[in-house]
Amino acid sequence: MNFREIDLPSRVVLKPGIIGQLHDVLADLGYDRPAYIVDKYTEEHFLPEGGEACRAPEATISVAESAASCVGDADVVVGIGGGKNIDIAKYVGWKRGIPVVSVPTIPSHDGLASPMISLSDSGKPYSQYFRPPHYVLVDPDVLCSAPDRFVQAGFGDVIGKYTSVYDWWIAHVDRGEYFGRYSASLAYLTFRHVVRARRQIARKTPEGINVLMEALVTNGIVMGIQHSSRPASGSEHLISHALDYLRGKKWMHGLQVGVGTIVAAYFQGRDWERIRKFLEGVGAPTTAEGLGISDEMMVRAVAIAKTLRDRYTILHRLDVDEHLARQALRATEVI
Ligand SMILES: [Zn+2]
Repeated sequence: MNFREIDLPSRVVLKPGIIGQLHDVLADLGYDRPAYIVDKYTEEHFLPEGGEACRAPEATISVAESAASCVGDADVVVGIGGGKNIDIAKYVGWKRGIPVVSVPTIPSHDGLASPMISLSDSGKPYSQYFRPPHYVLVDPDVLCSAPDRFVQAGFGDVIGKYTSVYDWWIAHVDRGEYFGRYSASLAYLTFRHVVRARRQIARKTPEGINVLMEALVTNGIVMGIQHSSRPASGSEHLISHALDYLRGKKWMHGLQVGVGTIVAAYFQGRDWERIRKFLEGVGAPTTAEGLGISDEMMVRAVAIAKTLRDRYTILHRLDVDEHLARQALRATEVI
């Protein structure tokens, strides 16, 4: 058998109030010179008193590079916020050779415990395998009061596993790509759990947010088991990357992935209507208009999605072009 390695976080802690005790928690873990990657909002609301803050205004490589210089002689880097701050913390940790702590304040996507970094590099999407954060510290109270859009986005990212796992299977059948049954089953299981808890998630009850958060963390772990984002990212993610590319900036990942899942399920010949109903149920967008883009941009995104990275999916099997894209988008009423 080939050499295999599994990357996992050392510890994931879910504890109400933990965000107000970060300094003490880090000291208990043996770190006394933490640097915090924050944005304006998380700096004002969650930065521990006297904490060393490095601002991350954008999810770009150049911002990540300046954050790496900003942290000075820190012995640990802590990303507080959504995906951007946490991804930048992972980059800084790698660059400076120091451990990374992920402190998500919104349950918006599965990057918060994953080994992947998703930034943009001169307008182009940049997605790279690094390693998972060493620690993931989750404060359920903070997540329950996250704005609805971020909860809908997290839900959309997990809904995407419906098509990402199937795309992986397609790549196995058509191309002989290795298909890891454990990681595929785990990723699919997260989809089933959030679907079952969708009403609680929509109402942001502690139980619902807990299921969503566990699903996001589990998908991060799945990527570490597989040493790739393959189980968690298929054609629905390619469509989201294409939208970011056409917009010229990263937008709400999970909301785009949700709409991408409707289209991908249609191409896969599966139950796209059920997916749309799930998204509608939590108030997530299901149309191009809901994503704030024109119908033409949506068509273009689906048509170019397969060229964005070397990952075989249903878009490649069907050789989706602009004509097929338009047909699918009309049939699913995304446009
Ligand atoms: Zn995702």
